[in-house]
Amino acid sequence: MAFDSLSSRLQMGLRRLTGKGKLDEKDIDDMLREVRLSLLEADVNYKVVKKFLADIKEKALGEEILKGLNPGQQVVKVVREELKKTLGDEAVDLNIKEHGTTIVMAVGLQGAGKTTAVGKMALFYRKKLKKKPMLIAADIYRPAAVDQLVTLGKSINVPVFEMGTKVSAEKIVTEGLKKAREEGCDLVFIDTAGRLQINEELMQELKNVKEIANPDEILLTVDAMAGQDAVNVALSFHKDLDITGIILTKLDGDTRGGAALSIKEMTGIPIKIMSTGEKLDAMEIFYPDRLADRILGMGDVLTLIDTVQENINEEEMKQMAEEMMKNNFNYNDLLKQFKMIKRMGSISKLLGFLPGMGQMKQAMSQVDDKAFDKIEAIIYSMTEKERCHPELIDKDFKRRDRIAKGSGRSIQEVNRLRTMLEQMKKTMKQMKNMDEDDAKRMSQQ
Ligand code: GDP
Repeated sequence: MAFDSLSSRLQMGLRRLTGKGKLDEKDIDDMLREVRLSLLEADVNYKVVKKFLADIKEKALGEEILKGLNPGQQVVKVVREELKKTLGDEAVDLNIKEHGTTIVMAVGLQGAGKTTAVGKMALFYRKKLKKKPMLIAADIYRPAAVDQLVTLGKSINVPVFEMGTKVSAEKIVTEGLKKAREEGCDLVFIDTAGRLQINEELMQELKNVKEIANPDEILLTVDAMAGQDAVNVALSFHKDLDITGIILTKLDGDTRGGAALSIKEMTGIPIKIMSTGEKLDAMEIFYPDRLADRILGMGDVLTLIDTVQENINEEEMKQMAEEMMKNNFNYNDLLKQFKMIKRMGSISKLLGFLPGMGQMKQAMSQVDDKAFDKIEAIIYSMTEKERCHPELIDKDFKRRDRIAKGSGRSIQEVNRLRTMLEQMKKTMKQMKNMDEDDAKRMSQQ
């Protein structure tokens, strides 16, 4: 997953602070140095880094924090807020009309993932808003582009309007929009031509298409792997087209995160959508707060809950959220969570959303469904009392030995499971404290 190295470096810098009862300016400076290095290493634009650090420093050195309870934790909170702000602050969903036809024009350099993203969005909003999408194939330069869109449309059962590659993009869009109205399609995506590089001719054509279509959204697909180059690409397109939002793609790769953290601050354009894989369901609305939490290893419970929404009824979901936050989280709770997660598909993708799991990744490398079966076997070998009272196992080697033998797993695996439960409990407690601190401060104001 993207951000892994930024995430572990940032967490390392911050962990040193959280254990301390008191902080002085030197502690803060040390932490800032670490944060600076982690951001630069992640290829974040230096201007963004500078502003980020100045803002953190100002807030972190505030009297209220240094003299308050848990100063380290407060600093983590400041960093979390700043990260969120740099990523764009609030999530901005696409501007899709409730009534009438919404037109979305997708632009971007070739290979950034534009065509894939168009398919993903059609699928996503058809499901979410019950819209009737249509795709218009207006990339007439790459010979395979029209075929690619047609195949994509077929695979998700969405109509594709095309006129081959011999007709101008302007004409295709004019006819396509007419067709969409005739067919009652109320969400139209225009897949425009991409080029390897930006050039006059491309921009002129895009401007013409914009003029004809008068789109509600002009979305630019940007490859997260491009790092800071993404900023320059975005600025060039923005200058001519007034981009309304960014689709950041390939966030599933081992990209360092620089694009995500630089683009909003440097261009003012919000990232609206993130694409996290080649499969057509690998798309999410871009939530800055959730991503900030993921980067800081606090998990992303909200995205997890969104993902499971279709598979779990509301009562179960509420229960799950409550159980995750309660202090005496035990093996039975863990088992229940695993069972729910298993119903939802890809375990390794979902695992990253659980609080504290970021740090557990190494210990649980190669996590797959089989790994979960092993964990379940271990929990099943515990007595009911042991599952409800994890401390019984912590104190008693004989119990651990019996559980290991009973489940056919090693003592090390049993111990790893204990560490995992501890880690989850610790992170949840931290999150809860933050919420309580917030509530306290609010009531004092
Ligand atoms: P376009 O030229 O901008 O229309 O790009 P395409 O949609 O054809 O995508 C180019 C390549 O990137 C294809 O092989 C896609 O499968 C792949 N791709 C697109 N989005 C993602 C993503 O989020 N993650 C990964 N790993 N691959 C992606």
